[in-house]
Amino acid sequence: MADNKLYDILGVSRTASDNEIKKQYRKLAKEFHPDKNPEAGDKFKEISYAYEILSDSRKRSTYDRVGLKGLQEGAHEGHSSDDLLSHIFGGNLFGGFGGFGGAGMHRRPHRGDDTVHPLKVTLEDMYSGKTSKLQLSKNVICSACSGKGSKSGHTEKCRTCDGCGLKVSYRQIAPGMAQQTQVRCPECKGECEVIKEKDRCTTCKGKKVCNETKILEVHVDKGMKENQKIFFRGEGDQQPDVAAGDVIIVLQQKPHEKFERSGDDLHMKHSISLTEALCGFSFVLRHLDGREILIKQPAGTVVKPGDVKTVIGEGMPRYKNPFEKGNLYIAFEIKFPENHFTTEANLNVLETLLPPRSAFTMPQGENVEEVDLLDFDPNERSSNSGRGEAYASDDEDQMHGGPGIQCAHQ
Ligand SMILES: [Zn+2]
Ligand SMILES: [Zn+2]
Repeated sequence: MADNKLYDILGVSRTASDNEIKKQYRKLAKEFHPDKNPEAGDKFKEISYAYEILSDSRKRSTYDRVGLKGLQEGAHEGHSSDDLLSHIFGGNLFGGFGGFGGAGMHRRPHRGDDTVHPLKVTLEDMYSGKTSKLQLSKNVICSACSGKGSKSGHTEKCRTCDGCGLKVSYRQIAPGMAQQTQVRCPECKGECEVIKEKDRCTTCKGKKVCNETKILEVHVDKGMKENQKIFFRGEGDQQPDVAAGDVIIVLQQKPHEKFERSGDDLHMKHSISLTEALCGFSFVLRHLDGREILIKQPAGTVVKPGDVKTVIGEGMPRYKNPFEKGNLYIAFEIKFPENHFTTEANLNVLETLLPPRSAFTMPQGENVEEVDLLDFDPNERSSNSGRGEAYASDDEDQMHGGPGIQCAHQ
């Protein structure tokens, strides 16, 4: 019984011309391409499959005559293979066809497996875009025998399985009860046919395919992200009578020493001195595309430890819209001067310039006890071993009522 499913998927009539089908396929493939429309799920595969059948006049006329079910069953006449379900028919895609493919493992996939390759790229590559050459080896149909595997072009029906590719075996699971299972024929490995030793193609040694090295040009577009996939349709391993799967490149970003990426935004840390934090600063940042960006904070604005500032539009370019960019966020760290960085006299001058201390009154009486303030060592447990160095001299503490004094109560 014929059906209309594949025409419906492409949205064309049964009488559509090859040209109409091609045009419609291009339109839909663009719209539902996983790069562009990751939500579309299997829609793209459906479209590709429908086009694969309808663009091939022989397959199309078979489909017109026998429908999807007939096409599927016909596909393995004479060369049934492994029990792999095809990508398309394995899922729930054509769920409406419930019973179809009742032959179980007696089915040949319409498409070979996809080949997935990770590709390491730098953040600079994702910012500016780059073309990488990727060398990969793949199986291609043997050109010497056109994928027949034999010199004569002939094959013989496998005698072990009588050409059905399967072997039935019985297993006793309980007294008087046997379970029947089907396994792939070990002689022909489910190929249903064998080639005589003498007749084997010398190029592929009867394997029908040869290994070939191929160079793919991978275009890493501006704004592409970690784990983004780049598809090469039909560049996967070839095997006779099966459409080759895709090569799928998965981008992996190498860590960057300065920037961390979050979506289209970039984050970085920058250290400035206390003087810069108080008196303003400027510094030059070399961006991912080599530009030198001048970042300025005028005198009068104070940067505090942990402050985060935003530079609008200096993040990553947006994928497919690279003139629009995310933001750059800079988290500031402040380097304080070391102990005794200047003379006491200078500190007194400095104090007159800085905002005044918080008010302090020296407490009086017997309840007042002065203690030492030590550097905290996270490795040293609370104990009385080792006193370390006092934070400042006693004299200093007395003079200024500085941080060396803890007041118990006021
Ligand atoms: Zn066999
Ligand atoms: Zn060959």
